[in-house]
Amino acid sequence: MNRFQKFMYNKYGMDELNLVLLWIGIVMCILSLFIDNAIIGLLVGYLPFGFLLFRMLSKNYAVRRKENDKFLSYVYPIRKKFRKLKNRFKNSKNYKYFKCPNCKQELRVPKGKGNIEITCPRCKVHFDAKS
Ligand SMILES: [Zn+2]
Repeated sequence: MNRFQKFMYNKYGMDELNLVLLWIGIVMCILSLFIDNAIIGLLVGYLPFGFLLFRMLSKNYAVRRKENDKFLSYVYPIRKKFRKLKNRFKNSKNYKYFKCPNCKQELRVPKGKGNIEITCPRCKVHFDAKS
């Protein structure tokens, strides 16, 4: 085991929140170059790095995991929405999307089939649409 590995042993290390802190730190450092006041510039630029280092070197796994879980609980719904939009865009050539008028379930049907009757798989309501 080399020195760094020995030093990092028992420390929390990296997680998703730390990765975001790293990127925020890089962006803030660049932005701090435009702040005239040296002390405020330093604070703005290095605050995320300070928090990142504190989290990385922490031995309190339970609290750090809890912070990361809380962070992910905010990020996952946003990621899910973007993934859904991306898939919808990718499939827009072959599929058309409808919303069930009863339960608002999103439904995907093949394109170019003319007037069709759609049955919602969730609430079994029928409705007509042009695909
Ligand atoms: Zn429905």
